[in-house]
Amino acid sequence: MLPANFLQSIQEANGLNIESFKAVHELAEQVTSIRINPKKIVQPQHPNFNFPSSTPVPWCKYGYYLQERPSFTLDPNFHAGTYYVQEASSMFLWHMLQHIYGSDTSKKVLDVCAAPGGKSTLLSSFFTDGLVISNEVIKARAAVLVENITKWGADNLVVTNNDPKDFAVLENFFDAIVIDAPCSGSGMFRKDTTAALEWSLNNVALCSQRQQRIIADVFGSLKENGTLIYSTCSYSVEENEVILDWIMDNFSVETISIPIEHKWGIVATNSNKHTAFGYRFYPDKVKGEGFFIAAFKKTGATLEPRLKEQAIASPTKSDLLVVENFMQMPISTQLFKHNTQIRAIPINWMKDLKLLANYLYIKKAGICLGEVKGKDFVPNHELAVSSISLSNIATIELTKEQALQYLRRKEFLIDYDQKGWVLAKYDGVGIGWLKVLPNRLNNYYPQEWRILKE
Ligand code: SAM
Repeated sequence: MLPANFLQSIQEANGLNIESFKAVHELAEQVTSIRINPKKIVQPQHPNFNFPSSTPVPWCKYGYYLQERPSFTLDPNFHAGTYYVQEASSMFLWHMLQHIYGSDTSKKVLDVCAAPGGKSTLLSSFFTDGLVISNEVIKARAAVLVENITKWGADNLVVTNNDPKDFAVLENFFDAIVIDAPCSGSGMFRKDTTAALEWSLNNVALCSQRQQRIIADVFGSLKENGTLIYSTCSYSVEENEVILDWIMDNFSVETISIPIEHKWGIVATNSNKHTAFGYRFYPDKVKGEGFFIAAFKKTGATLEPRLKEQAIASPTKSDLLVVENFMQMPISTQLFKHNTQIRAIPINWMKDLKLLANYLYIKKAGICLGEVKGKDFVPNHELAVSSISLSNIATIELTKEQALQYLRRKEFLIDYDQKGWVLAKYDGVGIGWLKVLPNRLNNYYPQEWRILKE
């Protein structure tokens, strides 16, 4: 049952049909959708794509609805990052980017409120030649973000753990900023029925203030002509259209209209004062949960920043020899050293990384390849699940049962006689490292990510 004060408060929301809205919440139907990882699965027909009766999410190239919700925990492909379980409405971000950027995919983008990583993984798949700064202010949630970004395996992502106000110094820095704001969460009521009991008008007001603060904190770091994308999973006008008017009142921006197809069921809305465009998703009209999204173009000029780079160590010649002995790196990749670990990032983004390192708390940048220990190279888990091609490395294809035992860090037998580091794969995609010793098999799957479910 939806709270009466909640229903009362959203009565005026554009496009709301209160009766069918209430009815769809009573039905509590589950819509499950995933977005596949184009760096790991080439197309749905690929053998990895083991949901044969899935149907496409019309507004996202890599989005699919599943017929039923499987146990993702017991699917090794889920842990290999071959797909991300993401609510379909929020994949509309893809359509928006497609409209705004087309094939211009080399942008530098900030995802301010990024955990657990749905928008960031989508952004990294869209901006294939770009750089995505995936930020989360809450430390525990930043750890989950690192886990999901690691599994996604893209080298064009940097995870930071900063307050939005820390970005103020990076004036005029980003081509696009996505603010998927913390909100009162009414859009998820169908999935999480207990959340409805915690809903209050007071919280909506608090969220609205927090949303304004986040936008004000990061707006200066957006370049002139850059794109600001704002979204919530709330139906409340105070967190949606009212925020659009507040943005237009306080900053030099133009509203962006996004073409939508009538059959998608998305409601195009406008803010009261400035008629800024926004898009509302109601679960009785679209196949997805409640969502709101809008985009602006920044028109006012800002000063050129005077940022300083932080020195980042390079691997020594002997480090490089050990790495090269283990694997071949693409020439588009720049290697650098963080403490004892050797990491890789697209060469074009190294300078930006040096700037970011001076001002932000970086949790993860690019891919950690591993560590040089004497003449040996100890590969890192990030490398195993990365999309870096590891063509000359020993691999073993595990069965589903073996893969699950591996992910549980439990014992299993393999028929393999070559000693040393072996990349364990499932359905042709890396899931982690094994070290084959004369009479033992060492499992290097991260202890903290092991699956507990039998
Ligand atoms: N973008 C994420 C995704 O697609 O997976 C979901 C983001 S969720 C809607 C909002 C995030 O904002 C949460 O991770 C939350 O921890 C974070 N957050 C909470 N308070 C915040 C604040 N004051 N400033 C910035 N982020 C905040």
